[in-house]
Amino acid sequence: MYQFRQVEHLRRFLDSERAAGRSIGFVPTMGALHAGHLALIEHSEMENGCTVCSIFVNPTQFNDPADLEKYPRTEGTDLYLLYGANCRVTFLPEVEGIYPPENLAGPDFQFGALDKVMEGAFRPGHFAGVAQVVRRLLDIVEPDALYMGQKDYQQFCIIRSMIDQLGLPVRLVMVPTVRGNDGLALSSRNVRLSPEGKIRATAIFRALNFIRDRKSEYPPGRLEAMAREQLEQAGLRPEYVKITDPKTLQPLERFDETESAIVCVAAWLEGVRLIDNLLL
Ligand code: AMP
Repeated sequence: MYQFRQVEHLRRFLDSERAAGRSIGFVPTMGALHAGHLALIEHSEMENGCTVCSIFVNPTQFNDPADLEKYPRTEGTDLYLLYGANCRVTFLPEVEGIYPPENLAGPDFQFGALDKVMEGAFRPGHFAGVAQVVRRLLDIVEPDALYMGQKDYQQFCIIRSMIDQLGLPVRLVMVPTVRGNDGLALSSRNVRLSPEGKIRATAIFRALNFIRDRKSEYPPGRLEAMAREQLEQAGLRPEYVKITDPKTLQPLERFDETESAIVCVAAWLEGVRLIDNLLL
């Protein structure tokens, strides 16, 4: 496994990989790796000669300084997991490598209605930060393919829009959400839940399934309210439960408005903010 912290060193190495005919697959992460991240790595390895995994806790996407501070950092274990997953290249840049003083002002993207709802509404500035860091990382790695999880569905839509706006020659691949046996979506933030909290948190996946199973019986608004109630009963504090058009992320009033739908949830538990979604 090749490990880089310097942008220029990584760039030079990847030039030699391309010259050797290896396609580059890229998996950006914020570390505290789990089986969800490793699924992205495996997907990239199936499709590319060289998989690059970056670990960078991006300060510009945290709207809450306490969340940034509390974000788990487990570099030693992360590298061990990546080694076990046969990841070819790791990239662990310093903040100055990603945001050099001379390169601070990134382009402004127009996401239209995509970043006004759900995560965009509750975490002001979050997606501007995500787009900024992914733009910068793509500029450095210049991958053939970029792998992102369905777990962060709205983030995926934002990055797809950014790639379109810039006309970047990169293939964006969505990898399904990896869950524990109890249905809880794996997340770096789960380590901050108590054992009891981890059990309570499974109410999220149950509420998502409840909506999927009842969508022929009730309109979206009613199902959202029922799911919120279930989450509250389980001791969670839902921030939103939204049934939306998977392309535009705009709320649906009726299921027959679109071909498909997605339900997205954010809820607080024990001071931890959890998100999940399910295509309906
Ligand atoms: P993060 O480290 O949280 O920024 O996530 C890095 C990438 O891993 C993002 O593309 C996430 O969507 C993806 N990811 C996180 N958790 C999961 C999961 N449980 N299943 C699949 N992908 C995930």
